[in-house]
Amino acid sequence: STLTVQLGERSYPIHIGRGLLHQAGESLKERGIAQKSPLLIVSDENVAGFYLAALESNLQESGYKTVSFVVKPGETSKSLAVFEQVITAAIEGGLDRNSAVIALGGGVVGDLAGFVAASFMRGIKFVQVPTTILAHDSSVGGKVGINHPLAKNMIGAFHQPELVLYDVDTLSTLPPREVSAGLAEMIKHGLIWDADFAQWCREHATDLLALDAATLEYGLEKGCSIKAEVVSRDERENDLRAILNLGHTIGHAIEAIAGYGEFLHGEAISIGMVGSALLGVKLGADPSLVNETKEMLSSLRLPTSLPSHLDTDRLLEAMMHDKKFKEGSITFVVPRSIGRVEVVKDISVSYIREVIEQLK
Ligand code: ADP
Ligand code: ZN
Repeated sequence: STLTVQLGERSYPIHIGRGLLHQAGESLKERGIAQKSPLLIVSDENVAGFYLAALESNLQESGYKTVSFVVKPGETSKSLAVFEQVITAAIEGGLDRNSAVIALGGGVVGDLAGFVAASFMRGIKFVQVPTTILAHDSSVGGKVGINHPLAKNMIGAFHQPELVLYDVDTLSTLPPREVSAGLAEMIKHGLIWDADFAQWCREHATDLLALDAATLEYGLEKGCSIKAEVVSRDERENDLRAILNLGHTIGHAIEAIAGYGEFLHGEAISIGMVGSALLGVKLGADPSLVNETKEMLSSLRLPTSLPSHLDTDRLLEAMMHDKKFKEGSITFVVPRSIGRVEVVKDISVSYIREVIEQLK
């Protein structure tokens, strides 16, 4: 299936389906990507091992010249040093203004390659070939960037892709933990916007976890389209985009203090979404919201409670570093019911402390 994302003046297609890696050249030609200018493919070692040769040979058969640059897997590759190496590869590979950068990988590769595309010669075309479920989230919205040693995602840009090719066959090699973590962002889109979709995720949990192609296709399409709807409305309804942060205030704090690796992003926001439900009930939502949220998340094999070794004070402190926290109160995305959330601006720290204790 194909979804068209319309943001302001610009629009681009997200193709979702099987075997798309083997039709990549045709899809690039359809989008008018020049054949004379070399393409730069950026990937990581894990993904490259499975899919780089297939992508390169398909593009070359379609008449494209390609240069590939493979980085180490993981967040450490979103650095200024690796950014410089990729730019070097682009210059040495002879890329010009009509070239495109192709991201073959998950969120890390997408952010890095996208930032290279945004900044090389003041911006060239960008194509995303996401290979994780989580990356459906970053394939809409255009945020690209890298980390600074002092702060995550501190250096970046908005750069919309020309095209997204989501080949669900590439998801078959994802480790099970990465599958569940990606499904956390998928169900988040249901929890903030579409109760039926959240229920659908629960009902189809077995097929989603088993990476059934048709089920994944529907889930990814729905997840992308909800995100696109929220992002495009945000231009009119100020701050609507904030609802996409459901579970992220607590989730980011968990990631920060647990030491990277103990929790995947999706696992941390899963716990954060349970925390938000607990807060929702404190603020008047039906008490059944908490168990319903937990059941949905655990059906996707996601964690719903905090290990007790995570210190409450340290978590609160980590949240205070989050820019949304000021003078004893914090802005929070709070669910009212499944599928409906509100952004509440002045939640007191003592409420959050209670929620964290309840999460343990
Ligand atoms: P995200 O932020 O989308 O979860 P990452 O880029 O951090 O993505 O990727 C998560 C991990 O999964 C990395 O170790 C990456 O190498 C690996 N990975 C990504 N896609 C695949 C795939 N299709 N098959 C196997 N491993 C993959
Ligand atoms: Zn997220």
